[in-house]
This record gives sequence, structure tokens and C-alpha cells, in this order.
Amino acid sequence: MNCELIRRWLGAYLDGELELTRRLDLEAHLAACSTCKTAAEEAANFESWVRVNMPVYKTPPELKARIQASLRREFQIQIESLSHFWRPWPARRRSWCWASFSLGPGSRSQTAKIKN
Ligand SMILES: [Zn+2]
Repeated sequence: MNCELIRRWLGAYLDGELELTRRLDLEAHLAACSTCKTAAEEAANFESWVRVNMPVYKTPPELKARIQASLRREFQIQIESLSHFWRPWPARRRSWCWASFSLGPGSRSQTAKIKN
């Protein structure tokens, strides 16, 4: 692992998003490379400064209510559009039988037309 890769993965490392093996490789590099270790400490200090000094805005209650209502409406639409996948098995099996029955004879007649 070289310094260029360390710099590329530093943000993910500080956010706790690296997989274990990559994180261990990165930490081994930081233990051996003072340049990258300093860069990691500076980046960590900057992130904590941003977290402490970042302005926090409270959502107005009217906006929060509108967002929640919109999400509920959207979620309901998705549930309704997916509901046919969640029917009990016999209902689904009946629709599959109908589909294979209606497609079977049609496809044979198409074959016959092509042969003639
Ligand atoms: Zn390095």
C-alpha cells in the first residue's frame, strides 16, 4: 500500500467505511509513515472541527409535516404497485397457468405460419 492509496482512502477510513482488511493495511501504513500519519491527524482534526462548528438548522414543523405526508403517500403508492407480487401462492399460480395457456397455442400457430 502506497501513500497515494492512503490519501485516497483516508476519508472513508475516518468515516469508518473501510472494510476490515483494507483498514488494517491502512493502519499499518500509518504506523510506519509519518507523512501519512500527519495527514490523517490533520484530516481527523478538520472533520471534528466541522462537526463542532457546523450550523444546525431546525426543521419548521409545517415543512416536517409536509415531508412526512409526502413520504407516506409515496410509500403507499409503492406498496400498492408491488401488492400483486405478495399475493398468496394459489392466486399467483392461477395467473401463471392462465399465462402459459394463453401463450401456448398462439406460439404454435406462429410456428405453423412460418413453416408454410
Ligand atoms: Zn504514506
